[in-house]
Amino acid sequence: MRLLLLAPPGAGKGTQGDRLAARFGVEHIAAGDILRDQARADTPAGREIAAYQQRGDLVPDQIVLEVMMPRVEKAVEHGGYILDGFPRTLSQATAAAEIARQRGLTLDHVVYLHAPDEVLTRRMLHRAEQDGRGDDTAEVIAYRLRVFDQATRPLIDYYRGRGILVEVEADQTPDAVTGDILAAVSDV
Ligand code: AMP
Repeated sequence: MRLLLLAPPGAGKGTQGDRLAARFGVEHIAAGDILRDQARADTPAGREIAAYQQRGDLVPDQIVLEVMMPRVEKAVEHGGYILDGFPRTLSQATAAAEIARQRGLTLDHVVYLHAPDEVLTRRMLHRAEQDGRGDDTAEVIAYRLRVFDQATRPLIDYYRGRGILVEVEADQTPDAVTGDILAAVSDV
């Protein structure tokens, strides 16, 4: 199983990624978590990544591709992956697709999880109370939703054009969302 969760911040990619990875016995590769780990390193590269994340800006494509592609390739050796949060720009998607095509690791399914901005904002503000993520402040949340609209939303049409996109309503219980995803990927 090689599946991408494409979703605005707060839609539940992390939760669904964990569940789907357990269900299919593959690795859950979460770009935000991997970049947050790198950002903890007290190095120039770590500090650069931390600054982008703190502001809610996307980390530059080159850095993201270098960090993420080896993880994807390794996961494929162990049966596949649930990717969450990468690719997030058209140029990441086309670069990743080219590498994937050459090595036979292209995506089977892309699941677009969607919910209204008010729901996403409410969830992220709630998450801020639980785990205090530095980018879950009201101002940065609003900015991250705009970044999604500008940089990531074009991927919906890109993957729809490749015939691998399914859409799932994220404003439901986690169990209902998982059920809808499983139903959507087993029919296509
Ligand atoms: P997330 O945990 O998915 O909400 O991601 C948190 C932050 O990590 C984002 O706001 C970006 O700063 C960075 N990030 C995660 N994935 C990517 C990506 N594919 N490209 C660029 N930046 C990313």
